[in-house]
Amino acid sequence: VKNRAIAIGASTDGIAAISRIVAALPTDLAAPVFVVQHVGRRSSGQLPGILRNLTNLLVIAPEQGELIEPARIYVAPPDQHMVVHEGRIHLSRGPEENYTRPSVDVLFRSVALAYGAGSIGVVLTGYLSDGTVGLLAIKDRGGVAIVQDPCDAGVPGMPGSALAHVAIDHRCKLDDLAPLLARLVGEDPVDVPAREQLVIEDRIAAGRATTADVAALLATATRTTFRCPRCWHPLYALAEPRIRRYRCARGHAFTTASLGEAVDGSRPRAAPWA
Ligand SMILES: [Zn+2]
Repeated sequence: VKNRAIAIGASTDGIAAISRIVAALPTDLAAPVFVVQHVGRRSSGQLPGILRNLTNLLVIAPEQGELIEPARIYVAPPDQHMVVHEGRIHLSRGPEENYTRPSVDVLFRSVALAYGAGSIGVVLTGYLSDGTVGLLAIKDRGGVAIVQDPCDAGVPGMPGSALAHVAIDHRCKLDDLAPLLARLVGEDPVDVPAREQLVIEDRIAAGRATTADVAALLATATRTTFRCPRCWHPLYALAEPRIRRYRCARGHAFTTASLGEAVDGSRPRAAPWA
């Protein structure tokens, strides 16, 4: 069996949903689990403590460079992107995507690169669209895309957006997710090579992109009349037929859902879930 990894993303109402899944995961799970829950910038990061009371799997608030092991749950800290590279956790203050850091898309993209067809992405409850772009990356590599059934989610926005844009493999009620994940971890995947755009976008979030990387990405994009609501640089529409996405040269990223009314030139906004 090739290397498998599970990545879970949630926003509003996510702590309860993540707790239900983690409590039901088998303790001999043959894969690491990476979790991004949107939290405020000044949050104390309480999720690892909550999860430790629910499972015998080791729950880790990772340090920079933390070694990745199976049967462990890695929870992204507040105000940092969590990406995986060469078997270790990398924490970064790279540009926010859809106003969020940590971002589900950022985590999923790095998992898609690192684990290829072994990646399993799960989008849970939350407003707007974080996770949709990340699931597209996971599907592009041959991985498995899963959403919580929007009818079963506290807030249907994020899983609903993923269903609208991604060829989802499994749409599940919360209580069916842990058994599904346990089963998928035992299955053998078939890899698909990564596209250059995925590699570059992963580097941007990790704070490792060169000027040439950004130029190469924007060369395939179309400049718009919109301005980045975070830094006011021009926004470029990326070449992506499945969902309309924008980036500025500083690396801030948006889908139409998160850009929302800000594109008409109004002032920068706070994160919608804060
Ligand atoms: Zn920007």
